[in-house]
Amino acid sequence: MGVTSIEDFFIGAVITVFSRQLKIVEYGDVATRKRFEVDRQRTFAMIKPDCYKHIGKIIDAVYVNGFRISKLKMSRFSEASAATFYGEHVGKPFFPNLQNFVTSDVVVGMELIAEQAVDKWRSLIGPTNTQKAQQEAPNSLRALFGTDGTKNAVHGSDSAISMKRETSFFFESKTMKTTA
Ligand code: ADP
Ligand code: MG
Repeated sequence: MGVTSIEDFFIGAVITVFSRQLKIVEYGDVATRKRFEVDRQRTFAMIKPDCYKHIGKIIDAVYVNGFRISKLKMSRFSEASAATFYGEHVGKPFFPNLQNFVTSDVVVGMELIAEQAVDKWRSLIGPTNTQKAQQEAPNSLRALFGTDGTKNAVHGSDSAISMKRETSFFFESKTMKTTA
């Protein structure tokens, strides 16, 4: 690991001090929290099964666009865990397709950190529908790597509330096991 800089200090980061690995779990005081939280918003991003072969390019785009990765896990959805994660869409006409798609192979979930991370990541991935993304945001990740309305390469939380729910489900639920 190189020399530690201020960029390396965020909640969840592991830093090395005098050869000891320390995990940052909280801010020292309220003033520090206020100063750092402004540009330290989190979001939940996910590389979907149609896109994990492009994982290197997606991670490159994450860093080039100023995000940092604080958590990363490869996992696989079951039908039940897909229904929990995408709970708001259960019963909609496209849900069976979505469920088939996200359970078809592995996914890579990431917790990303940046200023305005939720909106910034949504803007980088582009509109939900790949064709629409190609027309309206040709440089977006969904335009570049998506296939159709369902197979759209990447996920991003739509709000801070979704971010909290999705992050804790993906990283903490026993049903979301780590895969090789
Ligand atoms: P987003 O992923 O942009 O937040 P939604 O939450 O509306 O979009 O939908 C979740 C996922 O379900 C989408 O990313 C896409 O894979 C799939 N999906 C959404 N709407 C449709 C649709 N009309 N037809 C087919 N698949 C859809
Ligand atoms: Mg959504």
